[in-house]
Amino acid sequence: MWSGRARACSSATRRGWPRSARPYAIAGLPQNILGTTDRAGNIVIRPGLSADDFAETLRHETVHSMLTASNRRVADLQMSAYNSSHLWRYAEEALSETYGTLSPLKGLTFPLTAPGYDIAPKRLIAEAAGAAGVVGGLGFGGYQLAEGIFGADRP
Ligand SMILES: [Zn+2]
Repeated sequence: MWSGRARACSSATRRGWPRSARPYAIAGLPQNILGTTDRAGNIVIRPGLSADDFAETLRHETVHSMLTASNRRVADLQMSAYNSSHLWRYAEEALSETYGTLSPLKGLTFPLTAPGYDIAPKRLIAEAAGAAGVVGGLGFGGYQLAEGIFGADRP
């Protein structure tokens, strides 16, 4: 489960130690939570994990930590987006889990199948369509602007 104040992740299993990991603390976490990254990017890992679980969890949390802005206001906005947007949460967890497990397939399915992320596929699709609409609108606006500046019928 995830607390709302921190990203709490229930990832598991794989080989290898992280190549570039961030500093972390070992501390007790609620049941089924292997690691967390708070809004300041601080990582906490549950004690007593197997070497493989530890490595995977640290890689996963390292991505969250690296994505956390150093500017406090931006970091607060990021945490707010993480908590309110299914698309944002899916994208961040999929990216983290892909690096954590070193498997894009596991990474892309993890946020939808692991408990506690509360990501509804319908909401995810609706948000993705909305985001595509905004990007498409910006693209069309850019096209019109370029047409206005350079003219439509240039050879
Ligand atoms: Zn995570």
